[in-house]
Amino acid sequence: MEAFLRLEGKAREDFYQAKYDYCRRFNLGVLFVAALMFFSLLVPDWQVFEQFSWQLLVIRSMVVIPLAVVVLVYRQTSNYRIMSVVSLLMVHAMIWGNIWAGSYGADQSYVNEGFLIMSFILLLASFSAPPLYAMVAQLGLIGNILLADQLYHYTNLDVILTFNIQVIILLALVDLIVTGFYYDHYITQRKLEFALFHDPLTQVFNRRQLHKIMGAGHDLSFMSPDIAIVIMDVDHFKLVNDNYGHDEGDRILQFVADCIRHSLRGPDLVIRWGGEEFVAILFDCQRDQASLVAERIRSSVEKSVNGVCKITISLGVAIYPGGDCFETIKKANQALFVAKRNGRNQVVCYEDLDQDSFDLDEYN
Ligand code: GH3
Ligand code: MG
Ligand code: MG
Repeated sequence: MEAFLRLEGKAREDFYQAKYDYCRRFNLGVLFVAALMFFSLLVPDWQVFEQFSWQLLVIRSMVVIPLAVVVLVYRQTSNYRIMSVVSLLMVHAMIWGNIWAGSYGADQSYVNEGFLIMSFILLLASFSAPPLYAMVAQLGLIGNILLADQLYHYTNLDVILTFNIQVIILLALVDLIVTGFYYDHYITQRKLEFALFHDPLTQVFNRRQLHKIMGAGHDLSFMSPDIAIVIMDVDHFKLVNDNYGHDEGDRILQFVADCIRHSLRGPDLVIRWGGEEFVAILFDCQRDQASLVAERIRSSVEKSVNGVCKITISLGVAIYPGGDCFETIKKANQALFVAKRNGRNQVVCYEDLDQDSFDLDEYN
């Protein structure tokens, strides 16, 4: 559960960003309620001081300033670092508002309770932040108490400090436990998402990933101006299964997926289309480059050693003109059919085909 403490680099960034995204609305809600609570403390203020005070009304109304800053920043960014700092600073602004309001009365009997309440609000506002930020904010509260004592000389400073330090230690533990619970949830969600969008055998994407990224009408053109689609099929794969067994067949599929992955660039997409067929979606890739990439994959499969048997693949390439991407996949499949018919282990580009040169009835 405390494994999140060992996260580093990007993994840590992703985790805390996800935690913030998960608690984002809750965090804003907490700050609104806290601001309302801060303002409503006017009533006990007046009861303690036994008189209406314009100064207290002004101090309590000023809470709208940090709240407005939070709302403005919230609308501008969802970066967890910025929002955590702004949220926790708002609570500190309220702490100073309370200290200021307290300075208008001789009676300091409820100063301690005020700090304790603020400590709990800090905890709630920290659920969206990394525990380290929460701890710094809580230590800042102790700093504020000591500073305020310099100005207002609390008669019961030792009691205030003892209570608040105890509560802060307790709340730091609560924060660590809550973050640990969220980490378990986060890891489970990540595993489920991976399983949902990846093929368990080859670890490349499955068809769901294509559906996830597609726009309305199966459109992909918003992803890149130049997209090429390559469909690949292992030649005589049935023979591999028959001669070497299903497990070795599976190893060959993993090997082919690795060859495809290593021949492509980072943003390109590899999908296990079914059985021993793969589809690659190449972004920022024009016609000439697409044929070269397909040739690179073909040659890599043919030349690399896979530990089972020599295998080859056939590839069909088609350029995506926009619109329904399944239409382009169909065209790539027609080119693949020609590659198979012409003897396998080759790349055929749909755009190079003489449309009369093959019988579509035979293909279908
Ligand atoms: P061609 O060159 O015409 O493509 O011939 P082929 O033998 O590859 O074609 P066919 O489509 O007849 O055979 C595909 C085989 O792939 C049949 C099926 O048993 C096998 N296959 C499909 N999925 C898997 C899998 O996950 N693992 C293994 N080992 N075999 C699979
Ligand atoms: Mg096949
Ligand atoms: Mg095949």
